Amino acid sequence: MMMAGSMFRSRTKEKEYIDHRKKHKSDGCDFCRLVKHHTDQVVGETAHCLIIKNRFGYNFWDGCGVDDHLMVIPKRHVDSLANLSDEEKIDYMNQIAKFENNGYSIYARAQGSKTKSMAHQHTHFIKVDGKAKKMADICIEAAYCDYEVMMSDAGKYIVIEGNDGTGKSTQVAKLAEYFRSIGRTVCVIEEPGSDDPEKSTPIANELRKVIKNGDLARSAAVNVALFSAARRELWREKIQPALERGEIVLSARNYISTLVYQGRGEGYDESEILRLTKLFTDEKYLKPDVMVILSLSRDKREERISMRGELKNPDTFESRGQDFQKKVDDGYLEIAEAYGIPVVSADGTIDEVHDMLIDNIKANGGIDV
Ligand SMILES: [Zn+2]
Repeated sequence: MMMAGSMFRSRTKEKEYIDHRKKHKSDGCDFCRLVKHHTDQVVGETAHCLIIKNRFGYNFWDGCGVDDHLMVIPKRHVDSLANLSDEEKIDYMNQIAKFENNGYSIYARAQGSKTKSMAHQHTHFIKVDGKAKKMADICIEAAYCDYEVMMSDAGKYIVIEGNDGTGKSTQVAKLAEYFRSIGRTVCVIEEPGSDDPEKSTPIANELRKVIKNGDLARSAAVNVALFSAARRELWREKIQPALERGEIVLSARNYISTLVYQGRGEGYDESEILRLTKLFTDEKYLKPDVMVILSLSRDKREERISMRGELKNPDTFESRGQDFQKKVDDGYLEIAEAYGIPVVSADGTIDEVHDMLIDNIKANGGIDV
């Protein structure tokens, strides 16, 4: 994860630091001055080194709050430890060993490093409070950090799967409403595509029309290819950019549908489906932050579907017989078991199912909801 090894000052402290550097630009070396005239910044001294407090210490280190930030400096102005005598090196190393042993992390930038502000060699001793900070808090407080990269960490990809009639779209809409109400930006996706340009791309929508056209007889392989092409469109053009912006992406269906419909239903090789999906998307697509399968008892599902009335144009899969529908129903449960995907019963009311989904997202997605 991106936060590992990262350090930030808070905005206030960074501003103080920049002002200090501007003011003392031509004053020579701050550290050499300390060696000559100790101030209360100096907290320890050996024959060849000073231990000093970092006046503009970091507030965050390795994703945790910082309790204490000290530095060891050689008394002699060198830009690299290599320029110290053996005797000086031993003294310096003893300080590092002592602080490391007392629970401090150790960090030094190479000479010439762009982020090294003082040429005078110095090694940071940082003691963290051990409390992982929330990414959002660090974003708010930190003065200089790569917002784009940090925000990409904050994006979450949530997939609701399940057979027709299990209420995926209703639940996705309700989750979108919920996340927006707590101030998150939400991107809703419909696989394999949608008339709604917000939820799809034009190409994915055209591919969807071919996929849904029950009059066009096709092999399972062609179905897998069509779904894979639509997925690449949605992943590259919609989902990935939204995740990079730190949004919550909610999708009804993903490749699990293909594992079930083309794999279990049409008998297409499961490992081939996975291979093709990965080829057209990537690892992250294959491993959403949260994936939940909605499951409905057979009677309930048939009742709901019959309430929609006779479908005018039953699509490719809706028009398949009972045998196919049973394979799909069973397939979802088998895939859930094999891939460790939680199953949520969709037998309850819309609100009951919504609450169960929120619980699941909380437990599995690392999202504060
Ligand atoms: Zn110096």
